[in-house]
Amino acid sequence: MFKQKIDKLLIGTNNKGKLREIKSLLPKSIKIYSTSLFNLRSPVENGKSFTENSLIKSKYFSKKTGLMCLADDSGLEIDFLNKNPGIYSARWGGKHGNFDRAIKRVYKELNKKDKNWKNKKIKARFICALSISYLDKKIACVTGKVEGYLSDKPRGKNGFGYDPIFIPLKKRKTFGEMRPSQKYKIDHRFQAFKKIRKFL
Ligand code: IMP
Repeated sequence: MFKQKIDKLLIGTNNKGKLREIKSLLPKSIKIYSTSLFNLRSPVENGKSFTENSLIKSKYFSKKTGLMCLADDSGLEIDFLNKNPGIYSARWGGKHGNFDRAIKRVYKELNKKDKNWKNKKIKARFICALSISYLDKKIACVTGKVEGYLSDKPRGKNGFGYDPIFIPLKKRKTFGEMRPSQKYKIDHRFQAFKKIRKFL
């Protein structure tokens, strides 16, 4: 295990929604750097799992900047769609990361599979793999998840990505309808953070 206390950390994401959430979860004693400071593009995510993609990002951004880097890879798995979009969650939004388009694609795929899907409970989960790397060396890697199901139409304007269509178990509101502080307490990134905290 990495013994030295971490005092500065680059957050390896160009997604502003994630950056905001990750910042809110980190101890205030750590000085945070964002990728925008270095004007870096994201690497090609050609891993076969959330974990592999997270490591690709944390190693890439660390090597580009010389800073220790924390990166995540996350997405939505829908059981009825054979766990898609999964690691392709961002790609379903197209080149410009258009989340309306990604949500339309989810409904289109569900309709293709079964016209009657709205009468079923469509189980889904958000997964988050978090990793910390220093140059090419993996320091830590964990995963977290939140189980739930899909809403039959998008609800709420908060958050990003698939938030308006995801209802966590035992709740009625979608992530898009919840206050960010409420979502951050239960979501996949928080579950992963609970596990990676001991390395910070
Ligand atoms: P990544 O940047 O390759 O990890 O892409 C993850 C994609 O999954 C995002 O662009 C979103 O579409 C989706 N996603 C991940 N986490 C969340 C979340 O907390 N809410 C909504 N969508 C999410």
